[in-house]
Amino acid sequence: MNFRDLNLNTPLYNALDDLGFTTPTPIQEHAFNVVSSGKDVVGIAQTGTGKTFAYMLPILKNLPFATQENPRILVLVPTRELVVQVVEEIEKLSKYMNTRVLGVYGGTNINTQKQAIAEGLDILVATPGRFYDLALSRVLQVKSIQKLVIDEVDVMLDLGFRHQLINIFDLLPERRQNIMFSATMTEDVDDLINDFFKSPERVSIAVSGTPLENIKQLRYEVPNFYTKVNLLFELLQDKERFNKTLIFVANKKMADRLFDKLDERFHDELCVIHSNKTQNYRLRSIEQFRTGMNRILVATDIMARSHVINFDTPNYPENYMHRIGRTGRAEREGEALIFTTESDTEAIENIQSLMNMQIPVLELPEAVEISDQLIEEERPQIKERNNPDRKPEDVGPAFHEKSEKNKKENLGGSYKFKIAEKYKKPKTRGDKNYNRRNKKK
Ligand code: AMP
Repeated sequence: MNFRDLNLNTPLYNALDDLGFTTPTPIQEHAFNVVSSGKDVVGIAQTGTGKTFAYMLPILKNLPFATQENPRILVLVPTRELVVQVVEEIEKLSKYMNTRVLGVYGGTNINTQKQAIAEGLDILVATPGRFYDLALSRVLQVKSIQKLVIDEVDVMLDLGFRHQLINIFDLLPERRQNIMFSATMTEDVDDLINDFFKSPERVSIAVSGTPLENIKQLRYEVPNFYTKVNLLFELLQDKERFNKTLIFVANKKMADRLFDKLDERFHDELCVIHSNKTQNYRLRSIEQFRTGMNRILVATDIMARSHVINFDTPNYPENYMHRIGRTGRAEREGEALIFTTESDTEAIENIQSLMNMQIPVLELPEAVEISDQLIEEERPQIKERNNPDRKPEDVGPAFHEKSEKNKKENLGGSYKFKIAEKYKKPKTRGDKNYNRRNKKK
């Protein structure tokens, strides 16, 4: 495969020649026809795979010269760094075209940006907040936007931009092409797609199974949640080694639960981030982690460095690769730890076979106490026959509100007894006495 096979045009070929690029990357090859077709597209590709050109090549090829002032293409990205980076990439690629590109982001003078917009543009690259402000101020006319690209959707949702995105969808013309790129498929990304996109075509490339050379991978076999917590207590005492540590968990509920436990011991060193937290809370957490004010971050997924601890084993091996890819990059060396339980046997085998290597298993440090308490998800499933609608997976504010209420209303002395013993409260009648029954005699 060669760029000539994509049937581009002379200005693009000249720009690619100047860059010294001859062969499309896999995501560029696969996305080209789909993006060109005008259908909605969801591309799964990480930074560094050439994803920017994957959407810009077909867009630029099909963007006719125009003298009109209002933008026709909108690219939304989560951070100002990315605005700068994407603008640079587009400028390189459109070097021999008369395309006008502008990048706008928050935290800078909006009036300068308004002036730049008034001069006319074709492609606008923006962070969601600043775009929305400009669109509301009416300096920016959005009616001519034909294509919306949302880059790094997963990060965008982690940072709490969901509502902002939805507001933006409302402003934009209904007849438009939506093109989304995400490094991972998460529940939040999936929800956004289902809610707002018309049966998009999916384009993804196989994640390389070769982990970065400078990541040392280690595994601990642990029986359950509370033992994992004990193991973390033990490991995280070493502040030198774990000076900037990202702990990945399976979902929001788990993030809150683990945060509560770690907070007992590492209050001043800890922050948490997931999509039920407010955007300000999240941005603050990331900032505190980035600057080193907090050395431990509990997250469902977010960009970061240094140590990565997979508290839960991801079911998709690609997600494991992506998580550990977040370490060992700019730093000298990274370390990725994974805690696996018996139920993760298949998942860990899949991860190891994707990488074509085995992760060494370490003995648990002697000081780690093996717990026999189980959290709800670890207990044998008990079916509630009379309530077919009950969803044990329900998370979010409603879930917490209900638990608080239950605590007051329908639980008697035995419940207080449990609290006293620091048990998790029962979620169904059936498993109320589980921990007590199974307690070591
Ligand atoms: P991205 O994944 O868009 O962040 O791109 C990663 C880097 O790869 C950027 O510096 C691009 O300029 C570069 N790049 C993009 N496409 C190609 C290609 N076909 N061949 C070589 N390098 C590329």
